[in-house]
Amino acid sequence: MSAGGINIVGAGLCGSLLAVILARRGYGVTLFERGGDPRLGQPAGRRSINLALAARGMRALEHADLMARVEPLLMPMRGRMIHAEDGGRELQPYGQRERECIYSVSRAELNRLLVDAAEHSHGVELRFRQEAVGTGAGVDPGPDPAESDANPAADGGVILQDLDRSTRYAIHPPVVAADGAGSAVRRGLEASGRLHVTESLLPHGYKELTLPPGQDGGFQLDPGALHIWPRGGFMLIALPNPGGDFTLTLFLANDGTPGFAELESKPAVEAFFGQYFADVAPMIPNLADSFMTNPLGVLGTVRCRRWHSDEILLIGDAAHAIVPFHGQGMNAAFEDCVLLDSILEEAPHDWEAAFARFEAEQLPNANAIADMALENYVEMRDTVRDPKFVLQKQLAFELERRLPDRFIPRYSMVMFHPEIPYAVARHHGAAQRALLDDLTQNAEKLEDIDLDSAIRLTRERLPRLEPAIAGDRYEADRSPDRG
Ligand code: FAD
Repeated sequence: MSAGGINIVGAGLCGSLLAVILARRGYGVTLFERGGDPRLGQPAGRRSINLALAARGMRALEHADLMARVEPLLMPMRGRMIHAEDGGRELQPYGQRERECIYSVSRAELNRLLVDAAEHSHGVELRFRQEAVGTGAGVDPGPDPAESDANPAADGGVILQDLDRSTRYAIHPPVVAADGAGSAVRRGLEASGRLHVTESLLPHGYKELTLPPGQDGGFQLDPGALHIWPRGGFMLIALPNPGGDFTLTLFLANDGTPGFAELESKPAVEAFFGQYFADVAPMIPNLADSFMTNPLGVLGTVRCRRWHSDEILLIGDAAHAIVPFHGQGMNAAFEDCVLLDSILEEAPHDWEAAFARFEAEQLPNANAIADMALENYVEMRDTVRDPKFVLQKQLAFELERRLPDRFIPRYSMVMFHPEIPYAVARHHGAAQRALLDDLTQNAEKLEDIDLDSAIRLTRERLPRLEPAIAGDRYEADRSPDRG
């Protein structure tokens, strides 16, 4: 029996997964996307080439019964391979259990899979080349306004433009807008005074390059790690792809020295890579040409005081775009889908109440991961090189082994423990950080620390993390040799 209809705008990662999940619950879903069908080779959105998938995202894919189809696309990364300026390398494991790794996945492949799953889920109608241009109030719906008698533009609907027929029309609420960081629906709601939004651009941008397979067709770097060349104020990273290549991403200030603005000639690009990334630069064919051709991406954080107005809801990046340094934007967007579904399970017909509850529960978490993502930029590009950081990481693992219900490194809480909300991870992580600072104040190596008193202090200063953390289902699902 149909549970009613819902419109979703944006068939990116979040919108297409949400379509699958809501169709499985029995809603009649119509999914509108500005781009063409990604299965025909037209990527729906041009962001990063590959992404890190972690436990929150995997839990959502399992919830949609899609994990078995996604698994073949995944490349496990068990830690950060730090590339020093002198060519030295050091693997810093992300976690200390076999399952505690993250997975590189192609954005285009994952998007295609999700759109395909949506099409084959009962009740999802896909409508490509349909662009949202705003919301009811404040946008002229044009000469061909509605597909039905009522005018949803007047009652708070969303206005779309058919890019093939150059016509405009409006869709009725309930609408979930998953139209990404530059969301037209969000801008429409803001323009009509229904939302207050802050968009903060980072003064750093990013550029992607490809490190192809070697002459033997194999990987030129260890494919089981996320590679980082931390250089203080900037960094280069590399994520493996199943074809033997890596996607490299340079994160750098837009202005200043060094900065993208001064890398405007091929000799300048070659000199920059030769100076800072001498080990990897010779492995990138046509480095300077690719650098000049590839687009410069912008990075920023979107924060809203509300995510819904009546029966229109923002979700995923449209609601809370974050900088990519914790590898959590997609994971958080997928988590949104599961939360919304669980709320609708209890109140399947009261959209406004469901949207209000979703917003109340998830907004503090979105703000927390936005902050942690910004903090992680400094960690990735700089702190990972600090011997104190390495010592604190060793001590954190030691405390986690001995008191797993009280101490879990913050990175692990975010990446491997979807049952711990982001806001709790941030709060608990701050107490852990202060504890680690105190315990390592006069220590240079683990042996310098009195572990018995460290454990006593941990018990005194950190509350238990409830519910119990150990033994969640990924432990069983992920055998050591998978992927
Ligand atoms: P999007 O993926 O942006 O999808 C939005 C969709 O809406 C697109 O299909 C677009 O074409 C469509 N659309 C846009 N405007 C309109 C319109 N007006 N009308 C109709 N349709 C429209 N996240 C991670 O979890 N791990 C990572 O490792 C990671 N790495 C990243 C690296 C970089 C460089 C960047 C920039 C981001 C990274 N992210 C990562 C974040 C991740 O890309 C986003 O959080 C994720 O794509 C959000 O999904 P979404 O569906 O909300 O938005």
